[in-house]
Amino acid sequence: MGNRCAIALGSNLGNSLATLEQTIKILGQTPGISLVAVSSWYRTEPVGPPQPDYLNGCAVLNVEQTPEELLVLFQAIELQFGRIRSAETKWGARTLDLDIILYGDLVIDNSVLTIPHPRMSERAFVLVPLAEIAADWQEPVSGKAIAHLVSKIDCSGVKLFQAS
Ligand code: ATP
Ligand code: CA
Ligand code: CA
Repeated sequence: MGNRCAIALGSNLGNSLATLEQTIKILGQTPGISLVAVSSWYRTEPVGPPQPDYLNGCAVLNVEQTPEELLVLFQAIELQFGRIRSAETKWGARTLDLDIILYGDLVIDNSVLTIPHPRMSERAFVLVPLAEIAADWQEPVSGKAIAHLVSKIDCSGVKLFQAS
């Protein structure tokens, strides 16, 4: 059966398009994960310190893994693409950022994982791509659908990059 999981992908260092597309390919080939939907890629204005624009997107997966197992996998993929956490400033540039946004209707908040992602509702770079592939999915804390959440925020910094 598995669980439906929404993830956000972002990159603003190196060949971001290649990194994001290879990441999708890796996820699709990972045992226990199947790709349900992948959004278009978007060029987005950075949040945080001055840095290059990001390329962002979202995917919906069907996963056998627990959220904790997914986090370990995601951090290994980030490392594979050369992400060096010790060299980063908070919300600074990175080759790859993979976040878990939603996992079914699960709500958890502990020292390693917060799901739903605590800043999803204020982030156009998450909600715009997610609305493309999961508009009706209700964020379980507010009970509001992604389509509703995205209608409440300024999305002017998020521009379609290319269809994927
Ligand atoms: P933000 O969380 O604001 O998007 P970030 O992605 O830049 O910031 P990171 O440095 O990539 O933050 O991750 C910091 C920690 O966030 C990770 O070590 C992980 O334990 C934790 N974390 C908590 N909830 C999640 C989640 N839903 N998805 C991914 N990581 C999470
Ligand atoms: Ca992030
Ligand atoms: Ca992250």
